[in-house]
Amino acid sequence: MQVDLFALAAASPSEATATEEARRQLEICNACRYCEGYCSVFPAMTLSRAFSDGDVTQLANLCHNCRGCFHACQYVEPHEFKLNLPRALAEVRVESWETFIWPHGLARLFQKSGVSLAAAMIAGIALTLAAAYALRPENGQGFYTVLSHTMMASLFSLASVLPLIVIAGGLGRYWRHVGGDRVTLAHLRSALIDAGKLKNLSGGAAKGCNYEKEDRFTMSRRWAHQAVMWGFMLCFASTVSATILHYAIDLKAPYRLLSLPKLLGVPGGILMTLGGIELIRLKIRAEKALGAPAVWGGEMAFVLLLTTIAASGLALYGATGSAAVRPLLIFHLGAILAFYLTLPYTKMVHAFFRLAALVRDAQTRRD
Ligand code: SF4
Ligand code: SF4
Repeated sequence: MQVDLFALAAASPSEATATEEARRQLEICNACRYCEGYCSVFPAMTLSRAFSDGDVTQLANLCHNCRGCFHACQYVEPHEFKLNLPRALAEVRVESWETFIWPHGLARLFQKSGVSLAAAMIAGIALTLAAAYALRPENGQGFYTVLSHTMMASLFSLASVLPLIVIAGGLGRYWRHVGGDRVTLAHLRSALIDAGKLKNLSGGAAKGCNYEKEDRFTMSRRWAHQAVMWGFMLCFASTVSATILHYAIDLKAPYRLLSLPKLLGVPGGILMTLGGIELIRLKIRAEKALGAPAVWGGEMAFVLLLTTIAASGLALYGATGSAAVRPLLIFHLGAILAFYLTLPYTKMVHAFFRLAALVRDAQTRRD
């Protein structure tokens, strides 16, 4: 197939929408194909000759912004094609979350503004403080002198279920937009394995990302993501195990170090804290112009919030039995409340959409 790259490039309008601009760049890449082995975006791209809006959205959500294709590209500025595929796809990705998640205004607010997320955290702490005073239990021990277990469980169950319903609605709209088919166990299995290993963060030749300044390959971003993701899972498992111990055998917090909640929660908290600090370091060093600069502040605030939750959880463990438990617990729970309530509107939502994109990718690879 003979493709006139200059004709494609000439179609670059200065006021193109994010999707139109990404489509222009994808068409050039599809003709060039130099970066074919870099990530799952390129093999998926080669399955089409023309890209619908749904195709562009799907490819954008497959991209993990490793920036390898930018540093390999001969068509970046000052070349007249002005290729910057990592940025073009990042902008479509952010726009897709804002479009599919209801209400759109909130998504726009928290994606773009770190100050809004900081305000949500302060509001979460204030709400927890108010609940601790208004609903102070008459008796209880440990954490439950601050807020009864039933109150804590009810508040956080509600705060986590509602955002998950909002995200489920957004994923349904995404699925229809990208033309997804019926999901089988095989599709799900393939997507979960890729997500669990963070396979696409390893780079084409398992050398890692070009995320930090300049074009050197490093695995730092993959390892930091692994630490945060598995740390988060361990902390979640710790909470579930504590709830089971509380209700099933009436064994209440605080737990000893050699108990299931602590054996899961302490390593989880350490992994999340270290991974979060590394992600913050990488984000500060990375070139803003190769991502979506408009959401840099919101993304940084989200990583800070996640790291604060993990670090305050560890501090709480260290303070067991002291007077610092009460203020630390209110701070920790308030930050978690803010995390849950803003879940559909922060960078956290990328985990759900990336998984959906991997499922769709598994479908197109098998069809
Ligand atoms: S990013 Fe550049 S080098 Fe890579 S496929 Fe696209 S046009 Fe070719
Ligand atoms: S930035 Fe990385 S993941 Fe995204 S398209 Fe380029 S090579 Fe693929």
